[in-house]
Amino acid sequence: MSALPDPTPRRAIRELSDELVSQIAAGEVIERPASVVRELVDNALDAGATQVNVRLSAGGVRAIVVEDDGTGIEPSELALALKRHATSKIGSLSDLERVATMGFRGEALAAVASVSELLLISRTAAATHAARLDARSGEIGPAARAVGTTVEVRELFFSTPARRKFLKTDATETAHCLEAVRRHALARPEVGFAVWHDNKLLAQWRAAGAAQRLHDVLGADFVTHSRELAHGAERPAGALRLAGRIGTPEAARARADHQFVYVNGRFVRDRLIAHALRSAYEDVLHGARQPAYVLFIDIDPARVDVNVHPTKIEVRFRDGRELHQTVRHAAENALAASRAVDASAAIPAAAPAPAAATPPWPQPRGATGQGRLALHELATLFAAEPPAAWAAPQPAITAEAPPAGGVTAEAPLTGGVTAEAPPAGGDEQPLGQALAQLGGVYVLAQNAHGLVIVDMHAAHERVVYERLKATLGERALQAQPLLIPLAFAASPAEMATAQEQRESLLELGLDVSALSAGTLAVRSRPSALPDADLAELVRSVLAEMAQVDAASGVVQRARDELLATMACHGAVRANRRLGIAEMNALLRQMEATERADQCNHGRPTWRQLTMKELDALFLRGR
Ligand code: ADP
Ligand code: MG
Repeated sequence: MSALPDPTPRRAIRELSDELVSQIAAGEVIERPASVVRELVDNALDAGATQVNVRLSAGGVRAIVVEDDGTGIEPSELALALKRHATSKIGSLSDLERVATMGFRGEALAAVASVSELLLISRTAAATHAARLDARSGEIGPAARAVGTTVEVRELFFSTPARRKFLKTDATETAHCLEAVRRHALARPEVGFAVWHDNKLLAQWRAAGAAQRLHDVLGADFVTHSRELAHGAERPAGALRLAGRIGTPEAARARADHQFVYVNGRFVRDRLIAHALRSAYEDVLHGARQPAYVLFIDIDPARVDVNVHPTKIEVRFRDGRELHQTVRHAAENALAASRAVDASAAIPAAAPAPAAATPPWPQPRGATGQGRLALHELATLFAAEPPAAWAAPQPAITAEAPPAGGVTAEAPLTGGVTAEAPPAGGDEQPLGQALAQLGGVYVLAQNAHGLVIVDMHAAHERVVYERLKATLGERALQAQPLLIPLAFAASPAEMATAQEQRESLLELGLDVSALSAGTLAVRSRPSALPDADLAELVRSVLAEMAQVDAASGVVQRARDELLATMACHGAVRANRRLGIAEMNALLRQMEATERADQCNHGRPTWRQLTMKELDALFLRGR
């Protein structure tokens, strides 16, 4: 998935020149056992290992042993490997500027050896046996092992008890060590990894393809709830390329523990990239939830500076803005491809849309795509009083008052439910045809795959929100003046906000002014939201505006939040009974709306129950 360092031929270890040393970001690299694990696994991978084994004891404090089957170290160079600023990975400033290996400072082994008892055992392909160096005594002797290297680190921080005191429990330190290996494992699927703690196998990842490794490390759940992200795959090495998977909002977590970003195979924490990814979720993820993602960025090494942080976990990009945009767009595209679209892609495109696909409501002038409504028409669609055009006979399915909490359909026994509904959704209607409304909350529909269940409020909220956003993108929301202004009691804070934000409120279609001390009057409402409880809507909007930094005005982000609030008020409420035509209209709107499969809070808006799943429920075909 990432540019692999060329493991051959072995280069000799040399001391860096003073000039080069002065260029290198120095600092403490060993903070805890996991730092040791990271450095040692880095070295194993740089040596071209195909298998890396990590053995821990007492959280890594008593022992960390890392074995690899890489190129090994010449006996004559063992001592040099432990010296500060001695490395086989760079030799000049120009090497430093385009470094492709994990290590390059020649500091890690020296740093680890200074706070532990370190043994280095190594054998190259040319040697007849392995050699062993005891860092403390400096003694070198023969040893037995196959080609490769073993580094044994014992009694970490034995000479710095203060440092040792800051370590957490063994279990916590072990978890950190495991996480360090996991980060490597995700980036290097072709390498096998195994981690033991006190002789117990904690994790094992066998060499695999990229997709399999992702599945092995992050689990089937993440794979199910994520979308592929790709950018520039066809470009040559050195060009900016992105690959990975972006978790859908369903994969979001309370903690930011499933966020893996790699630059040329190196795990990094980068604010710029984290921000770009976070903003791609702006409209679909609740603020407190943390998105899950794995992103591999391949970039010309000369365009990224890895030499800015002692542990190399931070990097600096030469073209940060461009990268930010590219990452954001790629992530947005991956997220926006709604499942409705996926489903339609899965069905082979066939017969042209039948005439019946024309929705049963007045078509907006110049409307092209089926089911696409102008904003005000969408609004009237869900207005309390359906337009007269809808008085046309409705399928009997919703004619009767629903039994409390039950299915609204009075399905005749003969012919089944489908007798009343149009044929199952055609190719052009991935969400299918509405069958009934359930419990005042869900719309049930039938499509080519089986049953579709839609959370009616969540779905409609999404549709309204995207519409509001699209409209406000160009100009102010259309306002509908009220014949009789609505007056309501307001707090001093609400009065003040209404006055300060009068212009912004007008842009949202809300004409709000003080009627008297403690009373606000609303003289217009957004025509897109005829259904909303106006006083509640204004209160929510004012509350949200009060949180906006007054100096920065109503910035884009706050505006989106305002629209989300408005959409929530404007969306069809639970327990509102919908006719079949209204339900179908909602389905068509969802298909025409980007990101329709999540509401603004990141909850799913619809689910598919396939015939196979239904059959399984009824143990059919067993
Ligand atoms: P750096 O990785 O920055 O070069 P280190 O202190 O981590 O510095 O390692 C010093 C040198 O020791 C490396 O440049 C490499 O030549 C050699 N070395 C360390 N670990 C291994 C290993 N597992 N296999 C082969 N060579 C290694
Ligand atoms: Mg190193």
